[in-house]
Amino acid sequence: MKLAIVIFRNNLRVEDNPSLYYASKSNDRVLGLYSFEILQGHLFGFKKCGKFREAFVKSSLEQLYKDLKAYGINLCFTNDFSNTLAKLSDKFDISVYFDEEVGSEEEHLQRVFAKYKHKSYFNQTMIEPFEFDFTKSFSHFRNKAEKLEIPKPLGLPNKVKTVEFESEQFSKAMISYPNDAIFFEAGEHRAKQRLEDYMNNIHSYKDTRNAMSGFDNSTKFSPYLSAGNISARMIYHRLKEEERRGYQSQSSYWIYFELLWRDFFHLVMLYSKNRLFLKSGLKGKNFNFRNDKESLDKFFSANTGIDIIDASIIELKSSGWLSNRNRQLVASYFVKNLGLDWRVCAAFFESYLVDYNPASNYGNFAYQAHVGNDKTYRVFDPIKQSHTYGGDNYIKTWLDRRSSSFIDYHKMSQEVKKEVFNEA
Ligand SMILES: Cc1cc2nc3c(=O)[nH]c(=O)nc-3n(C[C@H](O)[C@H](O)[C@H](O)COP(=O)(O)OP(=O)(O)OC[C@H]3O[C@@H](n4cnc5c(N)ncnc54)[C@H](O)[C@@H]3O)c2cc1C
Repeated sequence: MKLAIVIFRNNLRVEDNPSLYYASKSNDRVLGLYSFEILQGHLFGFKKCGKFREAFVKSSLEQLYKDLKAYGINLCFTNDFSNTLAKLSDKFDISVYFDEEVGSEEEHLQRVFAKYKHKSYFNQTMIEPFEFDFTKSFSHFRNKAEKLEIPKPLGLPNKVKTVEFESEQFSKAMISYPNDAIFFEAGEHRAKQRLEDYMNNIHSYKDTRNAMSGFDNSTKFSPYLSAGNISARMIYHRLKEEERRGYQSQSSYWIYFELLWRDFFHLVMLYSKNRLFLKSGLKGKNFNFRNDKESLDKFFSANTGIDIIDASIIELKSSGWLSNRNRQLVASYFVKNLGLDWRVCAAFFESYLVDYNPASNYGNFAYQAHVGNDKTYRVFDPIKQSHTYGGDNYIKTWLDRRSSSFIDYHKMSQEVKKEVFNEA
């Protein structure tokens, strides 16, 4: 019997899901398959997928399971794609449909899927992949990318038949969040709801996006995009529709602009063949990053003595969330003030962030560590930034103490610039 297997990884949705869409259009029988192996593993002592993302993914899966049923499709769970595909191919004449993702482990799995008759699709970005110099800056990419048409999202799959097959049970961890935590309800329905809700805020986005606290100051699309509860194209076309209905502003344009950063890092990772995971990054530069255990311990236990940094670490560890501004400050402090190996902090973010994805995380980190697509050596002043972007209230929310000792972070950053980065 012929059977199409649709692989689910970070494409946990029904709409605009190419592998599901095309499998259901050209096959009578379809089975969905998800493997928990993609949540496993450790890096620099951190669990690759911490409890916040795990909970988000598992909630998304519960919803997807029900939604696929409405199209007649069973979703099976395994801990080993390779083994389960082998068993399925013993029983059925299978063709495997999968979405292509970027990242070394992601690509490794793709080679497992490609051992079978298969069809694969790239739907990670708004724009279709195109040739550009991936070592150059975002502006170089943007000048070309902005001229490209963004394909319309695919619709919904067809109703089909399915088969019964063995499936693992899974349980969800119960997590308690602090009162002020930003908390996300997962799944495709919530993602679409968030998109609709945010249409009321598109004309104020640019003024509020840098705030350190608050829910509606920025779109909060990232967890939904990273798990694939929604596609970037669905967001783009809904945004355009809203602009046509009302008007386009600098602010509404800026949402597209930020989504383009996401596209940029995904395509840089795709073309650079995973150089973004290397200590020497895209630039292939061997800087003398420090390996100072005391600094690392103080940093990860939120005891750096810089309140805005310590508050950010506490927020991340207790909620899985950090605003873009706070991510920039924390990453910059770790690399440019403490002079530590950027990949360790990237692994920390990977573990805790509810919206982690390889391209956005490693692309941004390499950028901060001066081994990515950055043009000039830049250090953030955490105190100045904190005053500008509402850090005083933010610190009160997350830190129940204030540091008393003076830390000369300017001196620290000058020393790191010279010693670690060999810059005058
Ligand atoms: C060190 C560091 C690590 C990061 N790690 C991740 C990560 O693992 N996953 C992740 O999704 N984002 C990451 N980002 C990017 C950015 O911080 C988040 O996408 C953003 O804060 C999410 O909030 P939002 O959805 O409200 O963003 P908005 O400001 O509303 O932006 C809209 C969308 O644009 C995209 N976007 C915005 N800024 C960036 C950016 N700098 N790089 C790439 N895409 C962007 C996101 O998809 C976001 O949802 C990281 C940034 C830094 C500095």
